[in-house]
Amino acid sequence: MKNEEFRKYGHEFIDWVADYLENLGSRRVVPDVKPGAVRSALPASPPLKPEPMEALFNDFKDIILPGITHWQHPGWYAYFPANSSPASLLGEILTAALGAQCMSWQTSPAATELEDLVMDWLRQMLGLPSGMSGVIQDTASTATLCALLSARERATDFESNESGLRRPLTVYISSETHSSIEKGVKIAGYGRASLRRIESDAAYAMIPEKLEAAILEDKARGFQPACVVATLGTTSSTAIDPLRPIGEIAARHGAWLHVDAAYAGTAAVCPENRAMLDGAEFMDSFVFNPHKWMLTNFDCSAYFVKDAGALIRTFEIHPEYLKTKADPYVKNYRDWGIQLGRRFRALKLWFVIRSHGVEGLQAFVREHLRLARMVKGYVEADKRFELMAPVPFGLVCFRLNDGRGEDALNDLNKRFLERINASGKLFMTHTALRGKYTLRMVIGARTTTEAHVRAAWEIIRSVAGLVLKL
Ligand code: PLP
Repeated sequence: MKNEEFRKYGHEFIDWVADYLENLGSRRVVPDVKPGAVRSALPASPPLKPEPMEALFNDFKDIILPGITHWQHPGWYAYFPANSSPASLLGEILTAALGAQCMSWQTSPAATELEDLVMDWLRQMLGLPSGMSGVIQDTASTATLCALLSARERATDFESNESGLRRPLTVYISSETHSSIEKGVKIAGYGRASLRRIESDAAYAMIPEKLEAAILEDKARGFQPACVVATLGTTSSTAIDPLRPIGEIAARHGAWLHVDAAYAGTAAVCPENRAMLDGAEFMDSFVFNPHKWMLTNFDCSAYFVKDAGALIRTFEIHPEYLKTKADPYVKNYRDWGIQLGRRFRALKLWFVIRSHGVEGLQAFVREHLRLARMVKGYVEADKRFELMAPVPFGLVCFRLNDGRGEDALNDLNKRFLERINASGKLFMTHTALRGKYTLRMVIGARTTTEAHVRAAWEIIRSVAGLVLKL
């Protein structure tokens, strides 16, 4: 492509993106497409000859776009948000333009140094302990895998130093922990039998006494506790595992403490939300996703460790072809995780933090929390609804409850959610809380305002009236 053509389409694409973002609210959030419809509208074989950009762009608009789920839509209340923002997008364009592969300091000094700086900014912004160092990973799943691998390294080092014998390792999670931890346990080779699910309390938070009892029982049976994973903001209901007592237990038994705050970590930009971090000094590692609630487009996951040496010992490798003169003086982030090649993700994060400022990000979070409390009030004020969990962040868990049996309630609420989503105006997802089918409404999309939430609640209320009559 000639530079002139690139410039022309570049301008056209930016105009299109600006219009898309401006008018997003008028689209259906979730497309109305049948499985296979997009694929079958496209040629089965690749083109032999170059195709003009205009044809590509038209196919994007006519075939791809109608099959897209619009995560940036103001009616997005599903899963957790995956917010983008104009500043992040602009940073991402520059990253793509540079096309730098940032595996080591030498392969782009500015990328390494900006990542180092931006991660320390984030550490300060969340009030994390001053000794922690950060690295950007693609996702929380990868960061958690890094934690599990580091924990395994530490546990097995310790074992062989002490007696040369290896005891089977154990990993502790709660009944509410995200599935990525179980996946990480499988990948890291602990074996599924090493996983212990600790009971949670009425608010879905891990019960520390049960954790300690399980560890003591395992130790008595010859197991070695390698890792405890606490969650701040669980996926189903944003429950907060009590960090201090869990941290004390992990420390007492020599287990690595990993903290998964993938969604809720962003809330800690506001000092009033930092009670959940009481006990942070016990954390060996901590992850949160700026690509969820902090306006940084997917992917960007912030991983912090107390002992960078333990992380590096787990991952470093020094083949001749990667050695550089600068190695003794610099960070080479390829040694801070699984992948060798790395994207320049720090740039978009830097754009986001600078263009909003810490105060802008705080205001953004506070508004979502205010709107979530407003919805909680709506749920509590309407006798047809039942609030299913506390609302510490932007997620409101609720269901319809007219007193019919649990199985019938599950069916009713499933139909309720399907009807709401069929409106195309909003999109929510569900979970099961102690076996009860529960609707999750997460207020967290960048574009969602009070007016959107009020309009969404009107739809929810009227659909409730409909399904209760059926
Ligand atoms: N941990 C929690 C608590 C989550 O809610 C999620 C995803 O929603 C994850 C981990 C996985 O995040 P990622 O998609 O970045 O791997």
